[in-house]
Order: sequence, then structure tokens, then C-alpha cells
Amino acid sequence: MTLILRDKASLRAWRAKLTEGTRLGFVPTMGALHAGHMSLVAQARAAADIVIASIFVNPLQFGPNEDLSRYPRPIEADIEKLEAAGVDALFLPSVEDMYPTGASTMVEETLVSGPLCGAVRPGHFRGVTTVVLKLFNLVQPHVAVFGQKDAQQCAVIERMVRDLDVPVEILRGPIMREADGLALSSRNVYLSVEDRAAAPLLHQSLQTVAAAYEAGERDAEKLAQIGLDVLAQSDRIKVQYWEVRDPESLGGIARVGASGALLAVAAHLGTTRLIDNLLLGGDV
Ligand code: AMP
Repeated sequence: MTLILRDKASLRAWRAKLTEGTRLGFVPTMGALHAGHMSLVAQARAAADIVIASIFVNPLQFGPNEDLSRYPRPIEADIEKLEAAGVDALFLPSVEDMYPTGASTMVEETLVSGPLCGAVRPGHFRGVTTVVLKLFNLVQPHVAVFGQKDAQQCAVIERMVRDLDVPVEILRGPIMREADGLALSSRNVYLSVEDRAAAPLLHQSLQTVAAAYEAGERDAEKLAQIGLDVLAQSDRIKVQYWEVRDPESLGGIARVGASGALLAVAAHLGTTRLIDNLLLGGDV
């Protein structure tokens, strides 16, 4: 049975009863769970004795014109999936419990958060780091698992944990995809039939660029242009960015060198915003 902890007080009481030496794994989510989330749960189970997941649609990380109010919330189905996966506890707090009136402190990472999604979603990563640090303080996990699907989020959280000496080990889980390559996302349900048909081009653009890299192309601008050319096959896809970046700092690079590169794309299909990425290995 998955124990459902609906507020901070019950979470704290549960956490305090865990015996010393029990390794606690944590998978934070916003719900609408799919096989990508469940792969992180499996990774947490392999890395820990007890696993807790959280479902919290964090208002702080949504911009004023984003999808907070329509974000899918199939909570009963989510609980069933967590039960079936043998998750020990689910933290399911309310917004009021997480952000009591008067809450006025934010956590901000100021470098890795800047480019890519940070540039087009102002305040997004500040919302993410604020809620993740709160969740870490409440859950006090030994290990927490995040998806490579949100590569910049992983990099920002790793930096925050390092900079603020947060005593938790961060693991990254690989991107889970549909058979046609589309990265699983809670937002895929918004796609019209036509947009769903065009959406696998995001992954195809990453693969085409990876193939060009394998064939010897190292120029970052040329690689990005190859990706953009693939997306140009569909006029339904409105590209927000297609970038070749340093995999750790996410800073711009002119050429892909020894430390490899992160290929990152974001695009709108209708009103739905999708992101995807691929790590190039590097020359060593
Ligand atoms: P979300 O519910 O969208 O906040 O995502 C919760 C966690 O699941 C984050 O660490 C995501 O990176 C991860 N995640 C989302 N989609 C995928 C996917 N397709 N494969 C693996 N992990 C994912």
C-alpha cells in the first residue's frame, strides 16, 4: 500500500519514524504520470530501500500565460500507478500548505538557469529550485531521481545541490519515448491529431544532428542549422530554440569538443510547448 501524506505535518511525522540507515529515494513530479515517471521510480527503488514520490503542480514555476489551470490532474489513476509500482509513500500537499500566506523567499540559481528554457520562461527555474529545495528539506531523501528529458532542470538542480551543500545524491534517468520517438510528456495529451503526427520531428531533428556529428561535423552553428532544417518539414512546428550547448554549464560553444554537447530543442505545436534533447558524447 502506498501511504498518502497530504500535508507537511504528516510527511514530517512519517519521515521521523524511518529507522536510521534506511536509504530513502525520492521522485518529485507534477503528476499525470506516464512511463517516464515510472522509470524514475524504478531507478529510485534500485538505489534506495524505501521510495517516496511527490505530486505537486507548482504554481511558482508557471508563467502568467502558461498552462497551470489546465495542467492535467488525474490523481486517482496516478495513485494506482504508484501502488502498482510499489511506491511506499506519496506526498500530495496543497498549494496553501506549501506556500502559506506571506511566503516571500525564493531560491535562485543564476548561471545554468539563464539560457534555453530560462530565457523564454522567466522565473521558471526560480520556481523549480524553490520548490525542489523545500521538498528536499521536507523529505530529506538520500537520493533523488530526475529525468534527462528536462536536461536543464537536472543541471540547475545539480548546481543548486552543489552550491548550497544540500545532502542528497542526484541521479538522472534516461528519456522514455513513444515508439515513434516522441518523448513522453504529461503535455502530449494537449496535442491535436495533426500536431501529434508532426511531433516526432523533434526527436528526428536530434537524431539527424547526431548522425552529422558522427560523420565528423563539429561546428555548432552548422549542427543547429541541420536540426532546424528537419523541423522546417512541418509548418505546424514553431521553433523556440534549437541549440548546441556545453553539457554542464549550458553555455554557448562554437565547436563540439572533448566534453561533448547537449543538443536542445523547444517548439510550439499549436498552443502546446514541447522540449527534447540529446547528449553528444564528446571526442574523448
Ligand atoms: P514532471 O511531472 O513533468 O515535473 O516530471 C517529473 C520528473 O519526470 C522530472 O524529473 C522529469 O524530467 C521526468 N520526466 C518527464 N518526462 C520524462 C520522460 N519522457 N522520460 C524520463 N523522465 C521524464
